[in-house]
Amino acid sequence: MTRRTLALLLWLMLAGLGTVALFFSTGSRLTATFNTDARILHRVLSQRMEQQEAVLNAVDALERQGMSAAALGTYLDALLRPYPQVVAVERCSVGGCQALGAPAERPPPLAVSTSARPTVRWPEEGGPLYALSQNNVRVWVNAQRLTGALDNGAAPLTYTLFQPATNVIVVAHTPETGATSRTLQVEKVLGTTLQPFPIRISRSVPWSAWPWAAAALWTLLTAGLSVLIFRLLESRRTAQRALLDERARAGGVVQAASEAIVALDERYQVTLANPAARAALNHPLPFGTDLRTVASFQATLSQAPFDVATFWDSSQPTALPEGLSLLRGDEAVQVEGSLAPLRGADNELRGRVLILREAGPLQRRMLEHLEEGERRVREHEEMLAHVSRLSTLGEMGAGLAHELNQPLTAIVSYGQAAAHLLDDPEPDLERIRHAVGASVAQAGRAAQIIVRLRQWVRRTPSRARPTDLVQAVQNVLTLCRADLNRLRVAVVTDYADTSLVQADPVQLEQIILNLLRNALDAVQDAPNPTIKLGIASEGSSWFLSVCDNGPGIAAEVAQRLFTPFTTSKEGGLGLGLSLSQTLAQGMGGDLQGANAGAGGAVFTLSLPCLVLEAASD
Ligand code: ADP
Repeated sequence: MTRRTLALLLWLMLAGLGTVALFFSTGSRLTATFNTDARILHRVLSQRMEQQEAVLNAVDALERQGMSAAALGTYLDALLRPYPQVVAVERCSVGGCQALGAPAERPPPLAVSTSARPTVRWPEEGGPLYALSQNNVRVWVNAQRLTGALDNGAAPLTYTLFQPATNVIVVAHTPETGATSRTLQVEKVLGTTLQPFPIRISRSVPWSAWPWAAAALWTLLTAGLSVLIFRLLESRRTAQRALLDERARAGGVVQAASEAIVALDERYQVTLANPAARAALNHPLPFGTDLRTVASFQATLSQAPFDVATFWDSSQPTALPEGLSLLRGDEAVQVEGSLAPLRGADNELRGRVLILREAGPLQRRMLEHLEEGERRVREHEEMLAHVSRLSTLGEMGAGLAHELNQPLTAIVSYGQAAAHLLDDPEPDLERIRHAVGASVAQAGRAAQIIVRLRQWVRRTPSRARPTDLVQAVQNVLTLCRADLNRLRVAVVTDYADTSLVQADPVQLEQIILNLLRNALDAVQDAPNPTIKLGIASEGSSWFLSVCDNGPGIAAEVAQRLFTPFTTSKEGGLGLGLSLSQTLAQGMGGDLQGANAGAGGAVFTLSLPCLVLEAASD
């Protein structure tokens, strides 16, 4: 059954039921009114019958009292005025009857009866006239005149009075009516003792009495209502179909997508996952699984560590950082993708959708190349650091030679002194022992310098390990001692006993050496050349500051201080600072430089503090 037929049937049913109800209620109302009117008519007629009987009784009583005919006549004229149905009153004797007063109608002939019991008598020819007689009095009633006053009315009543027993019609009161749709009828008996005439009361209901206009209006209304409901149903169905189509389309797209798509509710529980997602995560991902327990990521290439909690918490679309790997059992698969919030119509967060893509072969190769490139860059950095160290050593050659020369000269002196002492006939063994001990100490000092130099020139892959920043500064000061002394530079140090950092010691010393040599260069022409070295901790970092009282950083290089090949020195390479910054950042720290407030420059190396948990054991 189509919707149209359904709506039509609904309309027919509504219209039919409503119309039937309207007609039924009108019918009931008409019947109730008719019953009331019939009751009133019956009562009025019964009363009138009683009036006639009262007239009969009154005249009979007066006649028996011997009132004269003339006096009775006069009395009757006044008495009968309210009773128009009493058309004549006669006094009868065996000889015949004689009208009293002025009769309204001439009575028809009727045999005389002088019975003491009141009786109703009917003339031969029938008709509306009949007589009530008692003793010598006869009262003529014209039934036609019984209801003259009741004839008028919007819905007149029809009634027929019958003679009792014979059912001969006394009077048929039939007012004018138009076309009749229905006739209401009731049969009663007039309520008097003398005249218990059967009466049939009826009323013709004209067609116009029925609620045609209301029924038509109701039909129209229900038709409109049905059309409205039909339209609503149609539009609802269309909208529903469109919604289902859209859902199916969206579902199809999600299922067919080669990307892994997982929709989550606000508690990260899976509400939808496509086959690609199940394959990518190697998990059936049933409804309600907490995705955070299934998908675990690992940062590989990206240097910044991947903060998983912040990623899941994000209420903004968030892309996975480049180079992130998805852990799948034992293997780690490089993926890219994003996590985006899903919002409802009220813009409230309803959940999230995670989209993942395995890095394709091409992309994987690119990432491998990238990693390879990075590895080579690191290698080059190390090589550059090595070359830079060699170059620095070259530049420091004279100073280092002087630094080595000192113990060697001392050894020679002590050796010669010992030889002279041995030449004595009674050698002073104590002094000889002292001279040999001193030369051994000087040899040890020289050996220390050579060990340090060998470490510097050796090219070993960098390896971070717990390193003391104070020790590194002191090592560098040893190497530079000769140059510092030659230039009469005052070195002011301010640091604690130890300050541990995680760093490659050679690289760390290289940074400090670069800073110290730059400071040395800067204070060359200063009146009281001074270099201050300080180590202080702030937060979770150590800060090594190298401060000089030179001319400060030249304006032309200030903006590009850490850009390679930035130099203001004749013959300078301009690599020291950029290399030092790269090395510092590789250790998780940084290097910054600025002009000091009191003149000169200050360079600050920051490195994360290392807390050795095992140290206290
Ligand atoms: P180079 O020493 O070969 O020039 P660097 O990278 O070590 O290369 O230094 C770059 C430039 O930074 C220097 O040429 C110099 O102009 C400036 N600079 C570095 N340290 C200082 C300092 N302590 N005082 C003033 N300028 C400095």
